[in-house]
Amino acid sequence: MSFDLSARLAVRRADNLYRQRPLLESPQGPQVVVDGQPLLAFCNNDYLGLANHPLVIEAWQAGASRWGVGGGASHLVIGHSTPHHALEEALAEFTGRPRALLFSNGYMANLGAVTALVGPGDTVLEDRLNHASLLDAGLLSGARFNRYLHNDATSLAKRLEKACGNTLVVTDGVFSMDGDLADLPALAREARAKGAWLMVDDAHGFGPLGAKGGGIVEHFGLSAQDVPVLVGTLGKAFGTSGAFVAGSEELIESLIQFARPYIYTTSQPPALACATLKSLELLRTEHWRREHLNTLVGQFRRGAEQIGLQLMDSFTPIQPIMIGDSGRAVRLSQMLRERGLLVTAIRPPTVPAGSARLRVTLSAAHTEAQVQLLLNALDDCWRTMEFDHA
Ligand SMILES: *Cc1c(COP(=O)(O)O)cnc(C)c1O
Repeated sequence: MSFDLSARLAVRRADNLYRQRPLLESPQGPQVVVDGQPLLAFCNNDYLGLANHPLVIEAWQAGASRWGVGGGASHLVIGHSTPHHALEEALAEFTGRPRALLFSNGYMANLGAVTALVGPGDTVLEDRLNHASLLDAGLLSGARFNRYLHNDATSLAKRLEKACGNTLVVTDGVFSMDGDLADLPALAREARAKGAWLMVDDAHGFGPLGAKGGGIVEHFGLSAQDVPVLVGTLGKAFGTSGAFVAGSEELIESLIQFARPYIYTTSQPPALACATLKSLELLRTEHWRREHLNTLVGQFRRGAEQIGLQLMDSFTPIQPIMIGDSGRAVRLSQMLRERGLLVTAIRPPTVPAGSARLRVTLSAAHTEAQVQLLLNALDDCWRTMEFDHA
């Protein structure tokens, strides 16, 4: 017997769910070259336009000259270097927590935090629409795993009644495929009332949200008691790579002792930490990036509503256009591409069945003229699709 991979791939294709990787032949940014074609892109997570910023590049280069390119070992052996440590201290100060711990990426930070905090005999409660890494972490932990209705504190409260052992409530801050915010004040209230801990993965909130880019926790003015476990990723608005968990002294020491995805991996390149220190400084001080981004979000929403597109309940730079059918979502994405625009169709299983969408993301690197080009093309394509349908 052998694995029948070809049959499985054929089914995937027939379901309009086959995925392909576009080849990016330029740096990340609004104007890219993909598979040989120059395109105006609205699909990266570089919300503040820092991924290709000259000062961040310069910091990386200087860091490589000073510290070399490889971490060389895990943090607990001899891979924890001065730039990593400085970045952790800066992130702790930024988030207003006693400490922060640097991970290689967000996927590993989530696996590490959840599995270090709960295990068999405990309970983990997650929003149904949480990022895949959080759901995987919950399953891997071996704790009793239950999902509550999307952003529904009442549904959470019911599940908290039946929870046993240490209980961890886990949610995205900004939901990555919808762009809406978690109702953190209500979730935090329910969790605290039952002595459970709330863990927030704010991958998409740090940078765009909060007066100083401090994300959803700053947006709602919540305390470290409300959100004892705060996760941020560095590959989105920070424009670099990596992730962190911020919290109490005891939390961070526990992760260092027990988080296997922290312990059993090589530290990230120290030069990368140098680059992130610079992007953190830009993220905190260059308010015009957040303000410009908000202007673009408003412009896009007004324009899309005029066209008659179905938007979601989002004021973040994640502005999905709900389509429903996977085939139609792919078709619309292709029509835009023929007009020189790149917007990805997001299909199940990344999103629930029947809720395929175009995931438009905006960046401070976009201009108002570029957003207008997108709106014009959407208007044109949408009319053509409606016509085809009739
Ligand atoms: C992107 C993302 C992650 C994963 O972070 P990486 O650093 O890319 O591994 C985790 N959680 C959420 C909500 C994300 O959007």
